[in-house]
Amino acid sequence: MYSKILILHFPPVITQKPIVYYLTKNFDLLFNILHARVSSEKAGYMVLEISGTKDNFNKGIKFLKNHDIKITSAEHEILRDDEQCTHCGACTAICPTEALSIKRPEMEVIYDKKKCSVCELCILACPTRIMKLSSKNTENIFK
Ligand code: SF4
Ligand code: SF4
Repeated sequence: MYSKILILHFPPVITQKPIVYYLTKNFDLLFNILHARVSSEKAGYMVLEISGTKDNFNKGIKFLKNHDIKITSAEHEILRDDEQCTHCGACTAICPTEALSIKRPEMEVIYDKKKCSVCELCILACPTRIMKLSSKNTENIFK
């Protein structure tokens, strides 16, 4: 059994379609949704563990890509340039997992990487652009 945790980034036109259901129906893949933020008419994302044979896994990935779903893997991580952080707090309002939070009374923005689901929302939210997506290893199954 092959298994990986992936983050699927859905464009707005896809969010109302049961795309993930087709992973099971068409490719006999099992999935476990770990975290999701999907709303109608807006871009959304889903963190899920997908399991199955390697062959079916690859077919499922191809199917998702053909539907304009961007895929990153949990082998990626989000890094923060701590020295450049202004502790403005903008990222804490958007972070769904509370990986970014405000420590009081110091009003210091703390980044707890262990809680991060790599949804990438903070990359756009950070006005100083100091949140970066980084690869943990060199494997890239999405090319
Ligand atoms: S990528 Fe950023 S917004 Fe998303 S969970 Fe990680 S720290 Fe929070
Ligand atoms: S939005 Fe950027 S600069 Fe502001 S607290 Fe978050 S990481 Fe720091």
